[in-house]
Amino acid sequence: VVEAWTSTKAGRHLAGRAKTSTKPEVALRKALHAAGFRFRLHPRIAQGCTPDLVLPRYKVAVFVDGCFWHGCPEHGRRTPWTGPNAHLWVDKMARNRANDDRSTRLAQTARWTVVRIWEHEVTEAVAQAVARVRAAATGGSTDGLAR
Ligand SMILES: [Zn+2]
Repeated sequence: VVEAWTSTKAGRHLAGRAKTSTKPEVALRKALHAAGFRFRLHPRIAQGCTPDLVLPRYKVAVFVDGCFWHGCPEHGRRTPWTGPNAHLWVDKMARNRANDDRSTRLAQTARWTVVRIWEHEVTEAVAQAVARVRAAATGGSTDGLAR
């Protein structure tokens, strides 16, 4: 069943948002690169699983989740959806969450270490986001990051 979205003023600014290479993704890439990490972008590591980037050397898969679309606990929508598209929004957000969970499981099944980073972690404290990736790459130790 395909239902049409009703155009609303609130929804219009969301149209045309890039699905790949969002601003936080690019910012994280730059910081990871500066920290000496080498990575591949948007590789398909399993059927239906394409992380935003991977560190092949460490088998770490990184997903950068937009606060809005992925329902961040701090910045995601906390009030019920209203308006003509309410049920479509509810469905869409539930689907996004299910896809996130599925991607994480697929990557883990393929023996990748998964790091999911919120958009706000990148925009507010990119060094901490890099530290999380580093911890995943080095198994939690602070040494051993080969350049
Ligand atoms: Zn957030």
